[in-house]
Amino acid sequence: MERRFYDELAQAGLQGDMLPDELCLHILTSSAIELLPLLDAAYQVRKKYTGNEVQLHIINNAQNGYCPEDCHYCAQAKSSNADIEAYPMKSDAEMLAEAQCAYESGAYRYCMVFAGRGPSKKRVEHLAKLIGKIKSRYPIQVCLSAGLIDDEDARTLKAVGLDRLNHNLNTSEKHYPKICTTHTYQDRLDTLHAAQTAGIELCAGIIVGMGEAEKDVVEVAKTLRELRVQSIPVNFLVPIPGNVLSEAPNLGPEYYLRVLCLYRFLNPKADIRIAAGREVHLRSMQVMALYPANSLFVDGYLNTRGASRSQTLQMIKDAGFTIKADRALEELLKQEDAAQNLLTIDDRKALLKDIKDLRPQI
Ligand code: SF4
Repeated sequence: MERRFYDELAQAGLQGDMLPDELCLHILTSSAIELLPLLDAAYQVRKKYTGNEVQLHIINNAQNGYCPEDCHYCAQAKSSNADIEAYPMKSDAEMLAEAQCAYESGAYRYCMVFAGRGPSKKRVEHLAKLIGKIKSRYPIQVCLSAGLIDDEDARTLKAVGLDRLNHNLNTSEKHYPKICTTHTYQDRLDTLHAAQTAGIELCAGIIVGMGEAEKDVVEVAKTLRELRVQSIPVNFLVPIPGNVLSEAPNLGPEYYLRVLCLYRFLNPKADIRIAAGREVHLRSMQVMALYPANSLFVDGYLNTRGASRSQTLQMIKDAGFTIKADRALEELLKQEDAAQNLLTIDDRKALLKDIKDLRPQI
């Protein structure tokens, strides 16, 4: 593909132009499109709207399990036999301490996730009080993921300062019945509309690798654009044994990067987040994802671990990016180094290879 093709793509993103479906599919699949110039085109759009900053998000799994829904990708679903340790909602003290820790770790946003179809009115009141306390104590953005909510719930949460509501679309409308049967795509859209009407920012994204076609991936990006979603987590399925969707999708790092580029072109001003599957699917190419995306999770995901915080911070620094936080990236890295130095002698010995690693045949 000639240089002009990539320049025109960047220009379209910078101008906020819609791309035709055929071109979107081409971006995802065509071997004629080379990865580096594609990433560069997406980076030009990313740089215009988000500079070289990376937002760090920390997710708090505020309640694990006990969900009556059957989302096939989720270890907390009633349809899953995954070996998770279920627990009811954490105490307010625990949640406040974790919010403080997230703030002090340089997180720009603290995301609280509650399993379940949606909160009762009593639970909404409780969450509102908790969010009010967090917002009054720490200058951190708060995002809530609590399932389906209605207009009244959204107004209550907005009144206490909730910044964002997360409710992923996950896949296209057509593919949705294949990944969940206990609620509909329309239920999800209704929740997003309720939050938007109340003035809460939207966080809604996709999980790639659930048997969908490339055109479903394109459709989700376009729906998110229509909804003017401010924050888009791009997840790649991490298959958890025991889940209905427990097969590893055969998607390489290049596909993940192409999806991120497409989402940047179609949603130029949005925060595009490298979400679950970063380590599993991007592998050694993780750093390249910072060119189309401007946000990522540290400290793992809802039910799966991720790279260590220090590895992630170092990756951001090595690539010449900065972080969006009250504290400097260097300061956070020093803090991580200090924590490493607190390792006990035994821990440090575990870092060294022993003779069985060095001479396995003996
Ligand atoms: S994604 Fe949410 S609603 Fe669906 S099963 Fe998991 S916790 Fe329940």
